[in-house]
Amino acid sequence: MERTPSSLAEQQLQSTIADNLRKVRAALAAAARRAQRDPATIRLLAVSKTMPPAAVEAAVRAGQTEFGENTMQDALTKIPLFQGRGLSWHFIGHLQSNKAKFIPGHFSWVHSIDSLALARKLSQACEHHGAQVNALLQVNVSGEVSKYGVAPTELSALIEELLAAELPAIAWRGLMTLGRFNASDDELRSCFAQLRTLRDDCVTRFGLKDFSELSMGMTQDFALAIAEGATIVRIGTAIFGPRLRQPAQ
Ligand SMILES: *Cc1c(COP(=O)(O)O)cnc(C)c1O
Repeated sequence: MERTPSSLAEQQLQSTIADNLRKVRAALAAAARRAQRDPATIRLLAVSKTMPPAAVEAAVRAGQTEFGENTMQDALTKIPLFQGRGLSWHFIGHLQSNKAKFIPGHFSWVHSIDSLALARKLSQACEHHGAQVNALLQVNVSGEVSKYGVAPTELSALIEELLAAELPAIAWRGLMTLGRFNASDDELRSCFAQLRTLRDDCVTRFGLKDFSELSMGMTQDFALAIAEGATIVRIGTAIFGPRLRQPAQ
């Protein structure tokens, strides 16, 4: 990316995004303190889906290093522009298995594994590139039919299959969920608490090492997610402003 000189519009974008990031980091720290947690144990993912490279550049200049994208097409045009800048990219959307081959070389985390078939594809793609990937299992805690993710009652069986399959390129790191759209605070908290309980049960039952992550909480509900133990919050709108279009698939 061009680093200098920057136009007036770029300077305005820079100061808006830097300001938003400061506010989000402050709100994250305040939520952590209320929950008697160390803010440093909560990773802030800036969800840059649909946003132009200039917006990502502004966030990088404001010190942000971890970014989330939810469609491959959008991500593949953006990520190469920031090579060598020390960023890490998380794939947070539904991963079509024919796109798993694009993960290695672009993403170091995938938040949305929900089947053995997809995990196999991802592991094969990573092995092919000599890459390793951190992966989370997406759980459909809210039970909405429109959502991807494994049902809570199917999670143990899926983990059994995944461990039996021995997928060497994947490090299983924890669980991810989405709160139900327009849910009340009580419902959201209960959904996030369920994800935490599921993670704790998985760790105990399968003796998983490093299976500690809970990716939960977005602009509207990240404080509730932090109260229930989120270790990764995925925040788009509060950092980059409203999205003007649907992401390209
Ligand atoms: C878009 C998106 C987010 C961020 O949502 P905001 O409400 O803009 O913070 C988080 N997680 C996933 C999976 C998303 O697709």
